[in-house]
Amino acid sequence: MEKNYYLKGLDCANCAAKIERGVSKLKGVEAANVDFMNQKLSVTCKEENINQVEQATIAKVVQLEPDVEVLPFAAVKTHGHEKHEGCQDCHNHESQNAESQKKPQPLSFVKDNWNLLRILLTALALIALLIWRPTGVTAAICYIMVYLVIGGDIVKQALANLFQGELFDENFLMMVATVGALAIGEYPEAVAVMFLYQIGEFLQDYAVDRSRKNIKELMDVRPDIARVLIEGKEEIVAPEQVAVGSTLLVNPGEKVPLDGILKDGHSSLDTSALTGESLPKEVTVGDEVLSGTINQEGRLVIETTRNYGESTVSKILELVENASSQKAPAEKFITKFARYYTPVVVLLAVLLVAIPTLFFGGNFQEWLYRGLTFLVISCPCALVISVPLSFFAGIGGASKAGVLIKGSNHLETLAKVDTVVFDKTGTLTEGKFGVDEVSGPLGKEKILAISASLEQYSSHPIAQSVLNAYGEKPLAVVTEVKEVAGHGITGVIESQKAAIGNQKLLQSLNIALPETKAVGTVLYLAVAGEYAGQLVINDQIKADAKETIRKLGQNGVKTTVMLTGDNATVAQAVAQKLGLSRFFAGLLPEDKVHHVEELTKEAKGKVAFVGDGINDAPVLVTADVGVAMGGLGSDAAIEAADVVIMNDQPVKLVQAMKISRKTLKIVKQNIIFALAVKSFVMILGTFGIASMALAVFADVGVTLLAVLNALRCLRVK
Ligand code: ADP
Ligand code: MG
Repeated sequence: MEKNYYLKGLDCANCAAKIERGVSKLKGVEAANVDFMNQKLSVTCKEENINQVEQATIAKVVQLEPDVEVLPFAAVKTHGHEKHEGCQDCHNHESQNAESQKKPQPLSFVKDNWNLLRILLTALALIALLIWRPTGVTAAICYIMVYLVIGGDIVKQALANLFQGELFDENFLMMVATVGALAIGEYPEAVAVMFLYQIGEFLQDYAVDRSRKNIKELMDVRPDIARVLIEGKEEIVAPEQVAVGSTLLVNPGEKVPLDGILKDGHSSLDTSALTGESLPKEVTVGDEVLSGTINQEGRLVIETTRNYGESTVSKILELVENASSQKAPAEKFITKFARYYTPVVVLLAVLLVAIPTLFFGGNFQEWLYRGLTFLVISCPCALVISVPLSFFAGIGGASKAGVLIKGSNHLETLAKVDTVVFDKTGTLTEGKFGVDEVSGPLGKEKILAISASLEQYSSHPIAQSVLNAYGEKPLAVVTEVKEVAGHGITGVIESQKAAIGNQKLLQSLNIALPETKAVGTVLYLAVAGEYAGQLVINDQIKADAKETIRKLGQNGVKTTVMLTGDNATVAQAVAQKLGLSRFFAGLLPEDKVHHVEELTKEAKGKVAFVGDGINDAPVLVTADVGVAMGGLGSDAAIEAADVVIMNDQPVKLVQAMKISRKTLKIVKQNIIFALAVKSFVMILGTFGIASMALAVFADVGVTLLAVLNALRCLRVK
């Protein structure tokens, strides 16, 4: 089982890695994962060990990071039910938590302000000491006192960690560097280093916290309240408490809290939070209304069709909240790198002191100082912090544009795509077929009636189109309905076998078909083992399909392929119009899987498959990255895909790819920049040019710049 915790006050990415390592080594723990951006620790263990593991986990976290508070994850989020609807325990937890959040928390208040206060005090003290210029023992006493105020907690933490075997953590490094400086009489230097380090920590916490909040706010489509009509009276309740079939009221300017059907009212909905689509969507009585959209005009009366947990908004939130748990290879690499980076730099520092003094008669004091400068540079924080932040910002930016990316790993894969494979119906085309022609021995009326009766059981876009053409007339009852993916449907109507589908379906039933010259997708109808008629249907190519293919080409995608279960004539026409590199027609879902496998072998880069989610779930899973259309409403798509395009516009894929490339570029920039500055300061330190304080200053600067740079991932044109 998996248990989640909220790590309150977790603000250093390196500490996150440390906690992850520490907890995963605990007895009974099968896996541990820390999601730095959401401050979430997930621990997997056997059900029977949970109590023991829980205790050990909390103890371990507190031991490693005393500033971090371990709380139950679900209780912290505003409406954060972790999939137990109506669970009283959760509810209690929530209200307790809401109360405790309202009260000012004296401890953390003092702690936050103490940090600021002592930074100010130290600044004043440093200025005073520089003017006064005490010497000898007086100087030592004064500086050590200031040192203890500004860095006492770090020394304490470092000593505690030393006994845990956490040798190379940043507290330890800072302690060694500054105590070393004190030992060689560099008092002002030691205090200055600690002072700058604390300022850096403070600013970094602030920056990370702010970014985290900004990104989260951006993605937050969470409704706060639901107005429910109970016995004619309007009551305000939490969205989680609304049952299916309740009557909701939504005032202008409010968020729709649950999915439902519009019963009364008329309005345009702002769907931009869900789809990134700026044009409002008109709704009238009878239309489906999705949660997370904002009512712009009239007062709406909605009958709910799903509870909160099943509603669009909470599904999206769940995806977004879990997205940064799935770490990208770049992220894993950098945490691993940081583990080796620090010891290597420490070793260099030791060599830098030992070699010149032992073999070349160098001045010990001077070389020790240079070595200590190295220690300051060996903190990996700038490297570690900006990577998850960049990915998180990238996911946030994409979600703002209406593209949900289910994990940092998928974001990275998306950046490396050079082959894009499309499904035709519903992806490149609208999937809304017009019925152009109905003909055959049975007569138009009957052909349509039987076809529609069969299609009422299918969720394929074709089915809906046939039903639309038939209209509101009564449908026949069909028994033994069977939908054959990529073929069509069979069933029994009035004790006669009937089938509708493509050539393949009728061939498999051994029914002879007449020649047809029709242009379009042809549906053949058979009744009682005989050909009964055909429907010629035509689909519209999506308005932005051509632009998508062109832009993909401009953005480094070498091959674009279309796979379809439709006939070759239609496929060829579409492929030509859109300028696709290749197409394959007449495919069954399993053939599509096979083609994607082949293309994956051929391609240099990664292969993306874009489908509408209806009967292509296996293909979505096979591709390196599966992109689904029709996030709104289509559960299958949300489940199987790695990336979901919320408003069905294929051109959004281009945007998502741009965001992913930009994110990866920024990650690389940050890594290179941080390493460059660090190596530069190291070289200066070796030659005694850079002071220790300058080294800290550079380190803080790099971290802050990296954080700011990471936030650029949010912005997309
Ligand atoms: P695509 O690959 O274009 O998305 P599918 O694999 O979903 O298409 O379907 C392939 C073909 O199978 C359709 O073009 C149609 O001829 C037939 N078919 C599938 N489902 C149905 C259905 N519900 N009714 C009639 N024909 C269907
Ligand atoms: Mg399809």
